[in-house]
Amino acid sequence: MNFKDKIRIIPDFPKPGIRFKDITTLLRDGQALRAAVQEIANRFRDEKIDLVVGPEARGFVIGTPVAYELGCGFVPLRKPGKLPAETAKMEYGLEYGKDALEIHLDAIQPGQRILLVDDLLATGGTTRAAVELVEKLGGQVVGLAFLIELTYLEGRKQLGDKEVFSLVQY
Ligand code: AMP
Repeated sequence: MNFKDKIRIIPDFPKPGIRFKDITTLLRDGQALRAAVQEIANRFRDEKIDLVVGPEARGFVIGTPVAYELGCGFVPLRKPGKLPAETAKMEYGLEYGKDALEIHLDAIQPGQRILLVDDLLATGGTTRAAVELVEKLGGQVVGLAFLIELTYLEGRKQLGDKEVFSLVQY
């Protein structure tokens, strides 16, 4: 499957100079969605993943079906103030702004093997914050999976020697 053909690029969104990778065109294509989810799941099928963790909102869309495929649970990372129980919080910088993520304190048990899933790896700021939240709770980040990697932003460098898998690179 050529996933790049399924992704639409919108210039100057949400700010001038950003070439926004719009995955809604991939998501609405049933064959492409299934192939993308299965390709990510297949890559980590032998890694004994206990939980998939994904950040709001596109990390939910890709992460949950990957968890379903792997037969494990899904843990959401949310923007501040959205999760109802006790949380840990981490701030981070974006390609176009600044934000923070929260996780429920009881979402991960120490030693659990975690696969982090998001739609796109840009600077790695979001993923770095996600890794730190998981590790704060004692989880072990076994791998990181993305539909898209913007290789020129070198987000991988923020993620140490962790296994990074992406379906499409720009
Ligand atoms: P970063 O923290 O810089 O790695 O940014 C990752 C998040 O920002 C991803 O989860 C995307 O949702 C979003 N993002 C950053 N750059 C782009 C882009 N060029 N096109 C679409 N989404 C982007």
